[in-house]
Amino acid sequence: MAQNEDLFKKIISHSKEYGFIFPSSEIYDGMAAIYDYGQYGVELKNNIKQYWWKSMVQMHENIVGIDSAIFMHPTIWKASGHVDAFNDPLIDNKDSKKRYRADVLIEDHIAKLEDKINKEVEKAEKRFGESFDKEQFIKTNGRVLENQAKIDDITHRFSLLMNTNDLAGVKLLIEELGIVCPISGTRNWTDVRQFNLMFSTQMGSVSEDTNIVYLRPETAQGIFVNFLNVQKTGRMKIPFGIAQIGKAFRNEIVARQFIFRMREFEQMEMQFFVRPGEELKWFEYWKETRKKWHLSLGIPQNKYRFHDHDKLAHYANAATDIEFEFPFGFKELEGIHSRGDFDLKRHQEFSGKKLQYFDSELNENYVPYVVETSIGLDRTFLAVLSHAYTEETLEDGTIRTVLNLPKILSPIKAAILPLVKKDNMPEKAREIMNILQPNFMVQYDEKDAIGKRYRRQDAIGTPYCITVDTQTLEDNTVTIRERDTMHQDRIAIQELETYIRKGIKPLE
Ligand code: ATP
Repeated sequence: MAQNEDLFKKIISHSKEYGFIFPSSEIYDGMAAIYDYGQYGVELKNNIKQYWWKSMVQMHENIVGIDSAIFMHPTIWKASGHVDAFNDPLIDNKDSKKRYRADVLIEDHIAKLEDKINKEVEKAEKRFGESFDKEQFIKTNGRVLENQAKIDDITHRFSLLMNTNDLAGVKLLIEELGIVCPISGTRNWTDVRQFNLMFSTQMGSVSEDTNIVYLRPETAQGIFVNFLNVQKTGRMKIPFGIAQIGKAFRNEIVARQFIFRMREFEQMEMQFFVRPGEELKWFEYWKETRKKWHLSLGIPQNKYRFHDHDKLAHYANAATDIEFEFPFGFKELEGIHSRGDFDLKRHQEFSGKKLQYFDSELNENYVPYVVETSIGLDRTFLAVLSHAYTEETLEDGTIRTVLNLPKILSPIKAAILPLVKKDNMPEKAREIMNILQPNFMVQYDEKDAIGKRYRRQDAIGTPYCITVDTQTLEDNTVTIRERDTMHQDRIAIQELETYIRKGIKPLE
């Protein structure tokens, strides 16, 4: 744990030092849970967006994108349930005066029990070596079973309490589990209260309270209310999807873990409209398709896990989270939900407009069912960044800090480096810049010794460093150094474009 905390701190300071992420309004001492993306951060973020958009929109004939406004008619948030039910259960510790989310306190407690199980498994693994049967051990070991039973019991009781909105019961559960405030170490808790997460502001004249508008807490509603516009103008046939990337705002109370939980963040969402009754087939399809998307980035499978929801929203009939192993443990990265016809029906009801589809094959009108995939852009950023951050000890004992980013996502694809700042090498390097710049984000760097320049590029995850040396001036060849292996090839300048393009291709 301590090691991971240390790693997480390093990732945060690396992000700042190398222009990926800055605390927002830093010269005014910053704002909690709000961040700005710097010069390399914005490139990485844009590349993630493009990678998602390409796989969802460009590669699916039946999915189109939109970009809806952040402000929407306030009744939309009544229809969606956000005005009444988009709440977090909050609890304060009277001694430290710190505020927590009751569900997070309970989740953390469960994570500690999970840790205990993992430690038992690790211990046994060491003891039994090769012959260790993990599955058998988990099924039979007394201590593991005892902790698992506790986890199941807490999860079950908590979801029952939340479903019946029994906040007094939630407080009792926190007390019964002996959960203490991490700051004061005491169990002196207030009652649990519900707190709405939407930011609101006024539109037009400030005095009338009917003018309250919300900053959207999710991008999905912009898709639902445009369902017919897109279906009609795009002549879309069910099944079809609408995708959107955009900002969302939530007044998160437990704002911690860097860009994992922010008050202003971006989502990449896709709502897939299907025939009623076919939703579970499509749910499985999207679960599989999204899993493949994650794995195509080359991040190992064991960094991900699927977590099926026990507690479903009343309108949903299946939901799963794709969790990623962040430095602070497995946490939600993406949600895939089968939402039935809840959203469109509610908008029909509140707007008084029909949101139906005429299925010519069935010769029938119906409100389509929806399967959604919803992924946090910033969380994806944190996932790839934290997995990429590596400190390698080289043969000479020095440490190399390198971001082994999926190459397709790297902010800069190639750096062009004249070996020395004279003998026509800078001019030659500029010629190469001119060839590559229209195709890739490239960078020219002539300052400092070549080793130092390589390190700078390693630290921002640049896959290729192209060096212009004396031989280049004679035969138009350069060395091209690959980031992860540090292996160097000598190739002709005119081969560079193909070489880089081949190298940055994602996995199929
Ligand atoms: P959590 O349980 O972590 O609060 P959620 O279940 O409320 O997340 P959803 O409403 O399903 O999240 O939103 C879809 C995705 O948006 C999440 O999987 C996550 O990647 C991202 N997301 C949600 N809230 C935040 C936030 N405050 N900061 C950054 N990303 C977020």
